[in-house]
Amino acid sequence: MFFRDIIGQSKVKPVLAGLASGGRLPHAMMLLGPSGGGSLAVALAFVQFLQCEYRQPDDTEPCGECPACRKAAVFSHPDIHFSFPAVGSGVVSTDFLKEWRSFLTGNPYAGVNDWLQQLGAENKQGNITKDECNAIIKKLSLKKFEGRYKILLMWLPEYLGKEGNRLLKLVEEPPEDTVFLFVAENTELILPTLLSRCQLVRLDPLSDEEVSAALTDRLKLDPARASEIAFLAGGDFGEAIRTASSQENSHTAMFVDWLRKCWKGNAVELVQWTEGFARTGRETQKQFLLYGLHFMRELMALSATGNSTLRLKPDELATAQNMARVLDFDKISRLVEVFNDNIFHIERNANPKILMLDTSVGVNTIMKG
Ligand SMILES: [Zn+2]
Repeated sequence: MFFRDIIGQSKVKPVLAGLASGGRLPHAMMLLGPSGGGSLAVALAFVQFLQCEYRQPDDTEPCGECPACRKAAVFSHPDIHFSFPAVGSGVVSTDFLKEWRSFLTGNPYAGVNDWLQQLGAENKQGNITKDECNAIIKKLSLKKFEGRYKILLMWLPEYLGKEGNRLLKLVEEPPEDTVFLFVAENTELILPTLLSRCQLVRLDPLSDEEVSAALTDRLKLDPARASEIAFLAGGDFGEAIRTASSQENSHTAMFVDWLRKCWKGNAVELVQWTEGFARTGRETQKQFLLYGLHFMRELMALSATGNSTLRLKPDELATAQNMARVLDFDKISRLVEVFNDNIFHIERNANPKILMLDTSVGVNTIMKG
């Protein structure tokens, strides 16, 4: 991966190149940026740049020609170790290397939901296990094979949970020429003790213009469609690619259908709906709730400002306008709260049937209240 292949991020690329060339490379870094903003792609270019054998002090790109670059480009450099969320007790990242390489080759802007889906584990929570931490400690205690550095690239340290404690000592006092590169989205879910040991490098979210230009350039979309999708994606290029490749957003149809049922408040219909909802995977449920939160926030903006230039598609906008007519700002704020709470609970493995039935009744009460 070259820096020049990465969408936007024009501020961060020279910073990283400078860190590598300047001889003051921190031994633990955390790239922090929103999902779909390209942090993982930046990390891939950076580790290749670090390992590049022909790299000169003034270079800003890996050469692409040397043996290290060739191996890094196909994610098989023996001194670039990958760690990422996986599913199952006792699993380690090397169990999934084949899937991981194909994931990176396919789209390094994809999110964790896409990754778990690729593992066929959409219904389960991903994590980075105790065994994976022990495997990391073991790998990094060995001598490097051939690279300039021994690198551990960990995608989403959020999934370490408290197991991150196992890595603290190593992150603080790593063996010679060892580099930890964490790629994270949400510092609130990372152990503060781990966070404080890393040099933080923040990435900006992509602008709508950057996403739109990339869609036109890479997916050959016509500019009008590209800008419409970019507008909806809110800086998430992975999401933009998903939208571009699917005819319609299934969450939209499902959400609007659910809202109508909540409004009607027919108990039998709501019970049937929640049973169907419970059968979908947990990641899908989370995405549905996140979509609900996005919709409610847009509705809040619509209610407060009357502004209709929202990140909503025409059919969503019609629903939102109808709702804004019957719901006041206070009620909408309460709905936003409900969705915030639900995301919290579903992430903590609440029973989706009970949660959503409860929510449906709650939404009906707020609407009719
Ligand atoms: Zn090279």
